[in-house]
Amino acid sequence: MSTIRPTPGLEDLRLYDSRTRRVQPFVPLAPPRVGIYSCGPTVYAPQHLGNMRSQVIPDLLRRVITAAGYEVTYVTNITDVGHLVSDADDGDDKLERAAAATGRSAAEIAEHFTEQWATDRRRLGCQEPDIVPRAASHIPEQIAMVEILQAQGHTYVVDDGVYFDVSTFPRYAEFAGLDLDEMTTSGRIEHIEAKRHPADFALWKLTPPGVVRQQEWDSPWGRGFPGWHIECSTMATKYLGERFDIHTGGVDHQRVHHTNEVAQSECVLDVHPWVGTWMHNEFLDLGGAKISKSKGDVLVVDTIVERGLDPLAFRYFTFQAHYRQQQAFSWEAMEAANTALRRLVGHAAVARAAGGMSNPAAVDPYRRRFWSALADDLKAPQALAVVWEAVRDPGLSSADTWAFLTDADRALGLGLADAVAPNADERGSDPRIDGLVAQRQAARAAKDFATSDRLRDALSAEGIEILDTPTGTTWRRSGG
Ligand code: AMP
Ligand code: ZN
Repeated sequence: MSTIRPTPGLEDLRLYDSRTRRVQPFVPLAPPRVGIYSCGPTVYAPQHLGNMRSQVIPDLLRRVITAAGYEVTYVTNITDVGHLVSDADDGDDKLERAAAATGRSAAEIAEHFTEQWATDRRRLGCQEPDIVPRAASHIPEQIAMVEILQAQGHTYVVDDGVYFDVSTFPRYAEFAGLDLDEMTTSGRIEHIEAKRHPADFALWKLTPPGVVRQQEWDSPWGRGFPGWHIECSTMATKYLGERFDIHTGGVDHQRVHHTNEVAQSECVLDVHPWVGTWMHNEFLDLGGAKISKSKGDVLVVDTIVERGLDPLAFRYFTFQAHYRQQQAFSWEAMEAANTALRRLVGHAAVARAAGGMSNPAAVDPYRRRFWSALADDLKAPQALAVVWEAVRDPGLSSADTWAFLTDADRALGLGLADAVAPNADERGSDPRIDGLVAQRQAARAAKDFATSDRLRDALSAEGIEILDTPTGTTWRRSGG
């Protein structure tokens, strides 16, 4: 007896699991419930567009899992303490350092950048998380977890803090395919003298004598603050249970942060595997586009808006590459994504305005192909290709197009389901006209010249002149 009613095309959802390193059927632990934990922002600086890629992709995942008929609990944390400037447990806490540099309090900085992140998520069409736990609000739980690890014999204490001894967890290197011997000989990350092995990691950092920190708490080992990795183990377990379905994060987290989360959690909870599917998205390559956080010239969602582009164009752009591929950022690509999005919204607005009843026999094959592309390890570029095929298909009525686009928008979240045909904005762009021009292009491509001429005449009657150029079709207001 199953209560799961997947959207047609999503019956066979497969996801790549970076732990087992293969695409496998998605089988939740306790259907219909599905728990997803995404590593959230370290709120000491703005979240740049690369960081936001690591928000948009799990949002797509969550929407697809929901469309597959499951009830998702989506948890993403706020790292407001414990994330050090170096992955090797060296250097200062990022929040503490930002506070010292700016003269603002760590709490104020955390609040400010948490707000920026939440606002930008919304502007990128991400659904609200169900739970957004903050590390600094979960100190007793983190201490409790470290105490269990200590009682189990997985830790040692040095002047600088409490460390996890990776030699006590034989599976440590398995998760990310690490070579632990290579780490000891290369001396690559050997910063803390007292560490027994470079891969050993901090569970609790002690405040040095004579130092007062903005964020520090008493613990059985002395005053200090938790290590970064323990927060995710603690909060994921607290809100999703001892085992859960999906954990996401950028690829950079696999070798250290997630490897350490697994070690702590599997020891404390005595489970294996702790998480059903590990999803690591590749990076947005910001390449030439400077992202120096200190100079304040970070590429953020605001930068897109200042350029006169729709923030959702970044979402569209993100879907143009598969999540396991690096994607290169460029303004040309963003402009192109913006144009494509405008056209798509235009199609939706025109289709909606036409009204009428859709014909399932015409729409369903497109729906099935769209969702099947996403069922295949979230192949968003292929899903977008199906969308364009549908809007250009002269065999679909406006009502069919509208029915398809509103359905697809459950995953895409591109505002298609809200598309209306407003009057032209001050820059002269107009989604309704974009849509009509695109319809005419589709008619021409299908050699349906009667329709294409009718659309040209209708636009001309409104004072819109269509310009066919070698690079595509644009329009302008005659006399303008
Ligand atoms: P942080 O605020 O540094 O903790 O990073 C938040 C998230 O952004 C993590 O999941 C990182 O893996 C991810 N991330 C950082 N840089 C990029 C990038 N250029 N592209 C995609 N994700 C990134
Ligand atoms: Zn994390």
